[in-house]
Amino acid sequence: MKLSVIGTGYVGLVSGTCFAEMGNTVYCVDTDEKKIESLKKGKIPIYEPGLDAMVIDNVKNGGLNFTVDIKEALEKTSIIFIAVGTPMGEDGSADLKYVLQVAESIGTYMKHELIVVNKSTVPVGTADLVKTTIQAKLDERKSNLQFYIVSNPEFLKEGAAIEDCMKPDRVIVGTDNVKALEKMKELYAPFTVNHERFVAMDIRSAEMTKYAANAMLATKISFMNEMANICEKLGADINSVRVGIGSDKRIGYSFIYPGCGYGGSCFPKDVQALIKTAKDNEYEPKLISAVEEVNNNQKKVLVEKIIKRFGEDLSNKTFAVWGLAFKPGTDDMRDAPSITIIKELIKRKAKVIAHDPKAAEQAKTYYLKDLENLDYVESKYDAVNNADALILVTEWKEFRSPDFDELKTRLKENIIFDGRNQYNSQKLKELGFEYYQIGSA
Ligand code: NAD
Repeated sequence: MKLSVIGTGYVGLVSGTCFAEMGNTVYCVDTDEKKIESLKKGKIPIYEPGLDAMVIDNVKNGGLNFTVDIKEALEKTSIIFIAVGTPMGEDGSADLKYVLQVAESIGTYMKHELIVVNKSTVPVGTADLVKTTIQAKLDERKSNLQFYIVSNPEFLKEGAAIEDCMKPDRVIVGTDNVKALEKMKELYAPFTVNHERFVAMDIRSAEMTKYAANAMLATKISFMNEMANICEKLGADINSVRVGIGSDKRIGYSFIYPGCGYGGSCFPKDVQALIKTAKDNEYEPKLISAVEEVNNNQKKVLVEKIIKRFGEDLSNKTFAVWGLAFKPGTDDMRDAPSITIIKELIKRKAKVIAHDPKAAEQAKTYYLKDLENLDYVESKYDAVNNADALILVTEWKEFRSPDFDELKTRLKENIIFDGRNQYNSQKLKELGFEYYQIGSA
């Protein structure tokens, strides 16, 4: 099939590449000329394991094309995926300006019948908005061209995006058009050969499914963080409690790790957007509002422990921070807990030396740009040189089994604040560390 993906970010680039990998001809479109130029040269602007090789292969065999010209893409293809960003607006709602820009371009330039598929995460009702926006442009042109709207939310996880795209747990497709539904089934068939994973529904339910999934996952995290905070007060250990409850099949082990809060490009903004949508429709969403509040507080829990240990004034203190990305396996720092933690430390006049295997460039260029008293180093051990304490924020694999003797020779004081409960408390105490984690005394 011939299809276009508009928006070449984490979702657009990965899904476009996976569609090409299955033998389709794909045009990936982006307004960011630099991004498109570097992609044409085989330079991948994001870190996603396995993506480089797949992009290069599919560009070579002609299956994957990059362009800034949406007109060209609309002319050459008949299925158009919208995968642009839907960042948080000032009032917490999802900002739809990029989605609607694309809809206007489609209505202005389309030359034949199209299936328009929305992959961006958008509030319930956005499909109607996209439809009326395209139709308004067609009416201006006095055109009778037909188009069909589909909602196909994306569930990939950064860091495992290729695997998620090639072998999705489920493919959610919302549409009221039989022809469009058949085309989508055909397009996704190679991804679901093992067993049926295609779930068809109405458009509004498909849009809502994405928000419900992210709100549920965020709820699991905030729930565990609340349990962790209660454990600390009571002298219980959340690590034991986690294993104890996870063994119940109704609960399960996934997504019940305590930590220093969730971040990323999805959970914070999607939870906020769902709260806003609910309120706009005269429903007070008490549970998910609390999920968000718990998370905002959780991002400060490590800083509170540090203040309790060192006092409010952190001048003359140096902290090594391991991990900047919002989770391992990605360079994405959107809403990462590291941002809150580092800013809170620097606000109290501390010096911070940070190390992340992939995200340092993002930090320097955008998220922690121009912050004084913040340096970056290439090696995790160099970060701890003469530091008053090590703070572990992102659980990259390379932090799981460090050489603790090496840490002891480099740290000024043998103190570790662990925001992801990576180490065994007893063992660290025996090694002579003062060790703080989440939800355990
Ligand atoms: P992103 O910011 O990485 O990429 C968006 C891209 O769209 C950018 O390259 C931008 O230049 C481009 N763009 C903006 N306006 C455009 C236009 N008019 N024409 C062409 N290109 C345009 O965003 P992302 O992380 O890929 O997310 C995209 C959507 O998918 C969001 O709605 C997000 O919530 C959702 N989503 C993201 C993830 C994830 O893990 N990142 C997972 C599932 C769903």
